[in-house]
Amino acid sequence: MSTLTGVGVSPGVGVGPAHVLAYEATVPDPDSRHGGDAGDAEAELARAGRALERVAADLEERGVRVGGEAREILQAQAMMARDPGLADGVARLVEAGTSAARAVYEAFGHYRDLLAAAGGYLGARVADLDDIRDRVVAVIEGRSMPGVPTGTGQPYVLVARDLAPADTALLSPDVVAAFVTEQGGPTGHTAILARALGVPAVVACQGVTSIVPGTPLLVDGASGLVRPEPSDDEVLRAREAAAARKAGQASAKGPGRTADGHAVPLLANIGGPRDVAAALEHGAEGVGLYRTEFLFLDRAEAPSEQEQEAAYLEVLDAFPGGGVVVRTLDAGADKPLAFLPPGAHEPNPALGERGVRLFRTHPEIMDTQLAALAAAASRSSARLQVMAPMVATAEEAAWFAAACDAAGLPSAGVMIEIPSAALRAADLAVRAAFFSIGTNDLAQYALAADRQLGALAGLQEAWQPALLDLVALAAAGAAERGRPCGVCGEAAADPALACVFVGLGVTSLSMSAPSLPAVRAALARHTRQQCHLAAVAARAASSAGEARAEARSHLPGLADLGL
Ligand code: PEP
Ligand code: MG
Repeated sequence: MSTLTGVGVSPGVGVGPAHVLAYEATVPDPDSRHGGDAGDAEAELARAGRALERVAADLEERGVRVGGEAREILQAQAMMARDPGLADGVARLVEAGTSAARAVYEAFGHYRDLLAAAGGYLGARVADLDDIRDRVVAVIEGRSMPGVPTGTGQPYVLVARDLAPADTALLSPDVVAAFVTEQGGPTGHTAILARALGVPAVVACQGVTSIVPGTPLLVDGASGLVRPEPSDDEVLRAREAAAARKAGQASAKGPGRTADGHAVPLLANIGGPRDVAAALEHGAEGVGLYRTEFLFLDRAEAPSEQEQEAAYLEVLDAFPGGGVVVRTLDAGADKPLAFLPPGAHEPNPALGERGVRLFRTHPEIMDTQLAALAAAASRSSARLQVMAPMVATAEEAAWFAAACDAAGLPSAGVMIEIPSAALRAADLAVRAAFFSIGTNDLAQYALAADRQLGALAGLQEAWQPALLDLVALAAAGAAERGRPCGVCGEAAADPALACVFVGLGVTSLSMSAPSLPAVRAALARHTRQQCHLAAVAARAASSAGEARAEARSHLPGLADLGL
């Protein structure tokens, strides 16, 4: 079989037999009915309720065990299993005589259709929903829940159409040599979880699920190559390259800087206090993006000011004297929060009432969050900066800055993740104290490509010259007003792109903690001038692939590092 190519989303080399995950979910018989009288209905309903709760509790428990961003994702899944609307749907069907298993199957089907029709991020959640449904049906029918093997003895390469967060969250690198999925994009669940686990991963790899189970695979999570039946020599070379990469990365220490000493603070993206340990372990100089909505995903009501203050203070206290950038709630679209729904039905949630826009309709939620942040800052020696997500105009930036001023938070910045904000960066910088470029959303909006769709991974690549142009515009707009401009999207974790961003005028880089050493090493190998030349070459290219190749030709140290 020839080599397959996908998108490498978590670096490293993994070798092992393919374990192809096939969810052979059983479909309960459409005609399956219970006994029919009220007692039967009651018993059947209780069975369904117990199974839904057991699955929810199991997901939650897995989340607690694994922690970090995985926990938030699993908690969101547990919430789906506990959805009151779903329970009502099951009850209606059971009362009409349908068996518990079939009722659950059909009730999920209703939500599934709604999500699939909504498309976008919600459409991409269909796989998550199916996974929960199959678990609940399995419990009702007395079968074990679907999942991946954990005790096969030999590390294997997990191959799947897509991976359910419930499955991947608990896998350890001792058991799984690598992940390869046919779907998913660079900013999807599998990618984020694989990086958090430190497991090499390739997503959007067409044809990989046709591989015969047991076929030996060599997976390179940096280049995105998947080689079936590799020779001993190929495995050896790939492993040597990975070892060289690790050794080279370990050699760079201390704060981020280019070879000629230009400082580029390297910061961590976190979802809550539990991610702080990894940030410190990988030498983060501070936090560049604290995604506060991850604290509240499983909540039916907005958390109290005191509760928020405690969560913020815990993070601030981990960086005494350092900087922590907290993003205010980014609810909506790919991060729906139960207590902060959009005002009306949204055919396109990614273009809807989300991010800072929701604060304008729910100022009380903003006031509570800003007050909690101000209170935490007053009790800590860390330097707190606050920023708003999804800012589109200078007027929004000014409105948010005024709200922060009123709350006693002097340093209010904005995320640049909408093209209009990048195009008018100098206007936004009049009131915004700093920028942080969210390349995940900026790519989604610039290329009109849903960030959750693996099939569009090529358009979401941050190497797209159009995206690089927008980053350059944002950095120039910030510089014009003497404002710092960081990048906190996943693209900052790509060592080559990190150098290009510095060349474009970006002043700090924030990423998931395990990516920090590679970026630190890449910067340390290149001068600011080399970064500048790489950026100019990338912007002159006419495709993402060409931009990458051109930039790399100016960054020879990357190959030395095996990056
Ligand atoms: C981004 O959009 O790049 C970003 C960092 O924010 P999030 O991924 O949380 O939307
Ligand atoms: Mg974003």
